[in-house]
Amino acid sequence: MSKKTTFLAVVATLTLAVLVYHTSLLRSEILSLREETSGHADDIYFLMKSDSARLYTIMDTEVRILHYAKPHKHPMWACPECAEQKNREKLDAQKEIQGESRHKHGAEGVGEAGSK
Ligand SMILES: [Zn+2]
Repeated sequence: MSKKTTFLAVVATLTLAVLVYHTSLLRSEILSLREETSGHADDIYFLMKSDSARLYTIMDTEVRILHYAKPHKHPMWACPECAEQKNREKLDAQKEIQGESRHKHGAEGVGEAGSK
């Protein structure tokens, strides 16, 4: 066996030993974390859920702010404000087809409230 082959074998064995050692460390860490969290699954789930809801609200607000702060020239994909405007346009078009515009409804409502 040449010196180079011996050296490579030693390095490979050392690398394997280090990998096995780290795997055992990770395993013991995972086991201790499991012991710490057992019985608290509902609390952890609730915290993750509320954190996700908070992040969703922050992201949604930021995207809506960008919609008005840096207006796009055409409706953008994944912009909730653009999607809502498109939906409102569709609803208005449907109401106009049915003969009941939102503005007419508002005027009638004010008239009825004022007469009473
Ligand atoms: Zn937009």
